Amino acid sequence: MTAELLDGKALAKTMQEEVSAEIQAFKEATGVTPKLVVVRAGEDPASVSYANAIAKTCEKYGVAFELKALPETASQVEMVALVQSLSADAGVHGIMVQEPMPKGIDAAAVIAALSPAKDVDGVHPLNAGLLMEGKGDFFAPATPSGGMEILRRYNVPIKGKHAVVVGRSNIVGKPMALLLLHEHATVTICHSRTVDLGAVTRQGDILVAAVGKARLITGDMIKPGAVVIDFGVNFEDGKMVGDVDFESAKEVAGMITPVPGGTGPMTNVMLMKNVLTAAKRQVST
Ligand code: NDP
Repeated sequence: MTAELLDGKALAKTMQEEVSAEIQAFKEATGVTPKLVVVRAGEDPASVSYANAIAKTCEKYGVAFELKALPETASQVEMVALVQSLSADAGVHGIMVQEPMPKGIDAAAVIAALSPAKDVDGVHPLNAGLLMEGKGDFFAPATPSGGMEILRRYNVPIKGKHAVVVGRSNIVGKPMALLLLHEHATVTICHSRTVDLGAVTRQGDILVAAVGKARLITGDMIKPGAVVIDFGVNFEDGKMVGDVDFESAKEVAGMITPVPGGTGPMTNVMLMKNVLTAAKRQVST
């Protein structure tokens, strides 16, 4: 069997056109340009390159972007004050605070200072709580939202299916599990203490990998015909690989996201969608 490719790159391209058009229509109707501000303290290389990528994405979509980069020596009081002032600024619609934060800064305190209405990354406890309840106007993190959008657009049935999610982080694994649960999947969450991981993953009609370990999930750990969503971003000899061993997995799975070109490109789309949603809610209220 060779699995059907869940082409996130192509889907992201299509969605970019849709979302850009919606942003343009919003600008014309309101005279307001949605604006995203990224806050960072220090120069963590991954954070710097992610912020650069977000800036480029904003430009493509017609979203205004600003980076507020504080020095590594920034204090918690300074970071909280900055996030509070951006939260109160009517010209800012979305805010992302990058992690890791410098030593000595309590990330939870900084995140708590975010206006939940501008928390387009879905990290504020209010948004996380509403996601758990599955009710109200909340923001879910962009990466799992992108995974769900792939399932939706490829018409993958979720209701009644057994979804196995490997990974339980607050930004990928756990929200993905909740989003699947809200779509009426029966959900199992695995993590580093799961005993006999393969025995559990082999039960998944939908198998999600959000681990950060190159090619951890091999073909023999996949139920024949399963739909595999790989969020993993790992580098081996300079080459990007997922958490799923694509070569062996594609012979067993029914559908699979490649890495690169699967879930990654969808993250940016969902982030821009969240910024537009935030702007719409703020401008209409
Ligand atoms: P974290 O390191 O925060 O979480 C990893 C999770 O995997 C933890 O829950 C951990 O378990 C679990 N885990 C670790 N080792 C094993 C193992 N051997 N067996 C089973 N579970 C294990 O990672 P993130 O959630 O932030 O990211 C996951 C992956 O997704 C990474 O590759 C990251 O680069 C990628 N990513 C991709 C994005 C995209 O746009 N596609 C965006 C964000 C992240 P425990 O809780 O017990 O420690």
